[in-house]
Amino acid sequence: MKLVFATNNPHKLNEIRNLLGNRYELLGLADIGCSEDIPENQPTLEGNASEKAFYVFNHFGYNCFADDTGLEIEALGGEPGVFSARYAGPAKNPNDNMQKVLEKMAEIKQRKARFRTVISLVIDGKEWQFEGIVEGEILHEKRGTEGFGYDPIFLPAGFSQSFAQMPLAEKNQISHRARAIEKLVRFLTENSGIATQLLNGCNGNG
Ligand code: IMP
Repeated sequence: MKLVFATNNPHKLNEIRNLLGNRYELLGLADIGCSEDIPENQPTLEGNASEKAFYVFNHFGYNCFADDTGLEIEALGGEPGVFSARYAGPAKNPNDNMQKVLEKMAEIKQRKARFRTVISLVIDGKEWQFEGIVEGEILHEKRGTEGFGYDPIFLPAGFSQSFAQMPLAEKNQISHRARAIEKLVRFLTENSGIATQLLNGCNGNG
């Protein structure tokens, strides 16, 4: 059955495609002709994931899931959180974002932080959400060149390498996104019967 992942990122798409196997035909936004900027105007990760998944369901008629991720720093009251991509401005520049975090944290000893991903799944207008968290701390300076976003300044708990120093495969085993995806895939696998009934009974896209 067809299921849309509200992303334009081919890496994210392939990663989940491999995990889901052939129970679902996983489509990206390009596959359904969606080239518009899907709104992400909500004040929470839950709200944004939900808004994106329902946008695709309501405008394109496909069952869909969408994700939203944020870096949540305890001493900054959860910032940058839902504003992670554009923390230092609309240019969404990762170096500027990290610089802003490092400056705000310069005098702060308590450096606890976490990445949190929320996935919202919408089937036949019904919604389920899945959360993935990786705990860690903010380093005092950038370390490593792998990965993206805030990886160089994030040290996952129990590890001696930042996310940007780890091989991608190792990061992908413990990451917030991997943990949320694991819950989604388990749900879709265990409930493929329910999903089939819902899909066959409703909008004809199954
Ligand atoms: P998105 O919801 O996946 O687009 O993530 C929003 C923002 O969070 C990204 O633009 C990055 O700044 C940050 N982010 C998400 N995932 C990661 C990660 O795995 N490592 C570092 N930064 C991330």
